[in-house]
Amino acid sequence: MKVVLLGPPGAGKGTLAAAIKDGLNLLHISTGDILRAEMKGGTPLGLEAKRYVESGGLVPDELVTRLVENKLKNCGGTTNGYLLDGFPRTVQQAEDLDKILSTMKTQVDCALYMEATLPVVLQRLTGRRVCKSCGAVFHVTNMPSQKEGVCDKCGGELYQRADDKEETIKNRMDVYVKSTSPIIEFYNKQNKLKKVNADKESQEVKEMALRILKNG
Ligand code: ADP
Ligand code: AMP
Repeated sequence: MKVVLLGPPGAGKGTLAAAIKDGLNLLHISTGDILRAEMKGGTPLGLEAKRYVESGGLVPDELVTRLVENKLKNCGGTTNGYLLDGFPRTVQQAEDLDKILSTMKTQVDCALYMEATLPVVLQRLTGRRVCKSCGAVFHVTNMPSQKEGVCDKCGGELYQRADDKEETIKNRMDVYVKSTSPIIEFYNKQNKLKKVNADKESQEVKEMALRILKNG
């Protein structure tokens, strides 16, 4: 199963992917996580991506698409497929993804649109905390770690992403509306779009998503 997770920043794409990937035996591919790892490692790609990511803009399509293409072609046959999180983010990327998958004789099965309202995503983004070591995602009030500032999974230090500061969030929302939201119609036209109300609490979101992914 090849699933694209759509929705604004803060809708809960990463949280949902982490919650369902093992049960469905799907690989979670987050372009944001990959870019942050490259930035942390100071690789040429990370250095190139940094200025876009930190300002809340989009990394150029060719760069991200190449990254995803490598990942898809090298992820082997050990899982039942993947959950793409944060990619595609432009119609160009969605078209390129279709081309890449068609050369691999496969296609996107479902685009799961996590529909969330603006006040909800703003509250989620400003309170998001991420583990520096393992990338696990928490929220200061919605999903707090047991010990403040410490990851429940690995004991790593929790931090606030530079692009989760209020000034940058505004830019990311504008970019989402202008460049990413047209993808919803792209998958609607292909009859692949399914929606979940992502304003709901995480257990309910997970159950709705699983129902859709298991039953079509
Ligand atoms: P995205 O990957 O779409 O940007 P995340 O999965 O990182 O979003 O979630 C954003 C923030 O909201 C995180 O701090 C996460 O803990 C919290 N969160 C995710 N889903 C929910 C939910 N259903 N209800 C409340 N908080 C949530
Ligand atoms: P995310 O973790 O999905 O919120 O992504 C964080 C940042 O990484 C975004 O604001 C972009 O700067 C960059 N990014 C992630 N995925 C993409 C993509 N598919 N295309 C362009 N930029 C991306």
